[in-house]
Amino acid sequence: MQMDKKSSIRLLDFPSDNLKSLLTLLFRGRGRGRLLRHYFLISLLLIAGGLITSGLLEIYFRYQESKEQLAFQQQETATVAAIKIGTFIHDIETAIKAATKSPGAEREDIDFELRRLLYLAPAINQAVILSIDGGARTQVSRSRAVSSDTGKDFSSSAAFQQARQGRSYFGPVYFAGESEPYMTVALPIERYGGSITGVLQAEVNLKYVWDVVSAIKQGKAGYAYAVTRSGDLIAHPDISWVLQHRNLSQLSQVKAAFQPDVGVTQAKALVANNLAGDKVISSHALIPTLDWAVVIEQPVEEAYEPLYASMLRTSSLLLVGLGVALLASLFVARRVVGPLEVLRSGAERIGGGDLDFRLNIKTGNEIEILADEFNNMAAHLSEAYTGLERKVAERTRELTLANEKLEEASKLKSQFLANVNHELRTPVSAIIGYARLLRRETEGQIAPLQRENLQDLLNNAERLLAQIDSVLDFATIEAGKMEVRVERVRVEEIIQGAASTIETILHDNSIKLIREIAPEIPTLNTDREKLRQIILNLLDNAVKFTERGEIKITASQQNGSLKLVVSDTGIGIEKGDLTRIFEEFHRGDGSSAKKYRGTGLGLAIVKKFVQLLGGEIAVESEAGKGSTFTVTLPLDSGARASV
Ligand code: ADP
Repeated sequence: MQMDKKSSIRLLDFPSDNLKSLLTLLFRGRGRGRLLRHYFLISLLLIAGGLITSGLLEIYFRYQESKEQLAFQQQETATVAAIKIGTFIHDIETAIKAATKSPGAEREDIDFELRRLLYLAPAINQAVILSIDGGARTQVSRSRAVSSDTGKDFSSSAAFQQARQGRSYFGPVYFAGESEPYMTVALPIERYGGSITGVLQAEVNLKYVWDVVSAIKQGKAGYAYAVTRSGDLIAHPDISWVLQHRNLSQLSQVKAAFQPDVGVTQAKALVANNLAGDKVISSHALIPTLDWAVVIEQPVEEAYEPLYASMLRTSSLLLVGLGVALLASLFVARRVVGPLEVLRSGAERIGGGDLDFRLNIKTGNEIEILADEFNNMAAHLSEAYTGLERKVAERTRELTLANEKLEEASKLKSQFLANVNHELRTPVSAIIGYARLLRRETEGQIAPLQRENLQDLLNNAERLLAQIDSVLDFATIEAGKMEVRVERVRVEEIIQGAASTIETILHDNSIKLIREIAPEIPTLNTDREKLRQIILNLLDNAVKFTERGEIKITASQQNGSLKLVVSDTGIGIEKGDLTRIFEEFHRGDGSSAKKYRGTGLGLAIVKKFVQLLGGEIAVESEAGKGSTFTVTLPLDSGARASV
């Protein structure tokens, strides 16, 4: 079938190419955009869900990673510093130990050893040899200002006590002259296989520790400091805090540094407040020989700066991804739902009667197959429709022909009726006229048998005329030309007239005709001739179908109507005939015998006349038991139009 360009929707036409209309379709609530919205939301959910999940996971793992990395770096720095400080102290201890091993016992020798010690270990500010009883024997000092301890008794000092027992002593940090931190180191002087002859006590300047600690930089603002178990600050980049003797034992990172961390293998940084109350990330390393710790601190903001930057990057990427996801979802939704919408609107057009409309969908999937099926269906429908139209045209032609024939037949019928009137009724009327004339003129002049024959002739001619009149009446009724002429009529008069007519055809006395006319019946306003015809036909039938017994006609007034009842004791009517006897030309089974003359028009005319006068007719009968016809007529039939 030829594709009509105007009546096809192309895929590109939907939805119109601007985003606005697509969005309107997406979000205009219930109804037609629902499928598109579902597809859009599902694909958006899938794509965006995946993106967001992976983005969040990325951020989470990066955060963990950064934290670990930071802790690891800090830990490393702290450990290196701790080792350096430990080595520094260890070197001093070694130097002191070497000095104690000097064989010379002379004062000069000892003096020399001590000076050598001061030379080798620049951090030692002063060294003193204590005798076995705790008395200071020899002392050397870098600073001349230092007052001599020679002769002073150290026997009760902790340094002497511990060294005397053969163990190295590392004293607490103290601040000489309220300036730099110092520490007392004391070692036993051993001779000849373990016998202790004295103690070498040195004052070590811990400024070196400060050098090590303040050289440590963690990031831009990160720093390190060294602290003792009791919380005394040994070294801090800000020397003033050391000089102020700040105690850090309350800081949680310091507490954590001296807590035995059993089984901890992974570096772990701590978030805590520093001395200034700022939030820092902190790690530490213990110097076991000294029971000191190196603590690293870095401001949280700085430590997490790369993390925040990376999170920002990831979030930005996520946003871009979401934007792309949104567009992709729109694209997918449009790809899937667009053709469906074309299909729907196309089906609507075809359903609306545009059978020449064809869908043009080239998606290469099931939707295209469906569209093709729709096109096939529309083509079949179109063919069927065309076929139907052709048939209707044929039938119309046939009907027109039949109508023409009917008109022809109707014309012939009218012609026939005119002929009946002219060719039959006129001669029969003439026969009756002449027969009556003959009967009157030959009164007493012809034999009784001849007279009887003449009477038979007259009767038959009159019956024939009645039959012809019936046919003409019926034709008039059928043609809708029967008119009702209302006048004042006395029902009794009509009944009596009809009865006397009927009496002339009652053969013998085997049938009794009874009339019962209620006296209160008022004068009617009705068509005299039709009322007469109704009564006459009913009585004529009663006579015709009754052998013996009685025929009764009663007239009464009931519920403001005239009620006429004609009953007989005749052959009655079969049940199957009861509903059909009022049809024209229908004759009952029982009446088909030759002896019952008739045309089957009598009751049909009665019924039409009753209806014309605005009344009703009913029959009750039983085969072999007689019949009763009841006619109800209005007292005033009024001026009725012709039917
Ligand atoms: P026709 O009398 O000419 O046959 P009608 O129309 O007057 O035609 O009556 C139709 C049929 O109704 C009759 O043939 C007859 O079978 C039946 N019929 C009418 N009146 C009576 C009656 N009084 N008794 C028995 N049958 C009747």
